[in-house]
Amino acid sequence: MKKIGIIGGSGFNQIDGIESLEHIEVNTEYGNPSASIQRYKIEDLEIYLLKRHGNNHTIAPHKINYRANIEAFSNLGIDKIIAFAASGAIDKSYKLGSLVLSSDAIDMTKTRANTFFDKDIVAHIDMSVPFCPNLQQAFLKSAKDANVLVVENGIAICTEGPRIETPAEIKFFEKIGATTVGMTLFPELTLAREKGICYISVAIISNFAAGMEQEKITADMLIENSRKSSESINKITLSLHKYLEYQKTCPCEHSIEGTVLNAK
Ligand SMILES: [Zn+2]
Repeated sequence: MKKIGIIGGSGFNQIDGIESLEHIEVNTEYGNPSASIQRYKIEDLEIYLLKRHGNNHTIAPHKINYRANIEAFSNLGIDKIIAFAASGAIDKSYKLGSLVLSSDAIDMTKTRANTFFDKDIVAHIDMSVPFCPNLQQAFLKSAKDANVLVVENGIAICTEGPRIETPAEIKFFEKIGATTVGMTLFPELTLAREKGICYISVAIISNFAAGMEQEKITADMLIENSRKSSESINKITLSLHKYLEYQKTCPCEHSIEGTVLNAK
């Protein structure tokens, strides 16, 4: 059986069209994940869905227990994760409600527990290829199958939040190459890498970034525009089983090899 974890952000919290088989409560040495994990099955694929912000969207981006979330997936034997995140568009060509597949990322977070290696082992995990290329291809094929347009080559910047950025910050982010801005990509991405889990990130364009289009960015705006894409995401999810591989041929599961510094 193939397995995939899906982390839903604002706007995508359930898979329509198939029954959830069970809600799995997982405890980890880092504490509890954001919510129980819903298990679904379609053909030869088990899908495990986790709501990043909790069942009632009560966990702010900087308060999410990212280590517990990734550890929970790892404990369930999940070796691939697709993460969705409501994001602001910095690239003016993006449209509200569209999906942008990230190809690179910038970390501007400040206060988060960002590694599994903070006790006796020092590891500098390599991020030269930030996202799993094989999983990206599988996602794109599923999107094509579902007749959903996905914009490629996004550069995602992750801020600390929970406040929205200032116009000057957005201008700076644009100058350094970012095309989307969100608050949850880090350390989720790097923790998955430390565990050898394939990970990709899909930005759901919920608003234009500060100082661009709208006068004020509101919660209603974020939720409404994110929901516009939930049908598309659902369709892609239902096609994933056709394109995910049984045997991994990407380098993700060997990520940790050669990155640990041991005192000798
Ligand atoms: Zn991979």
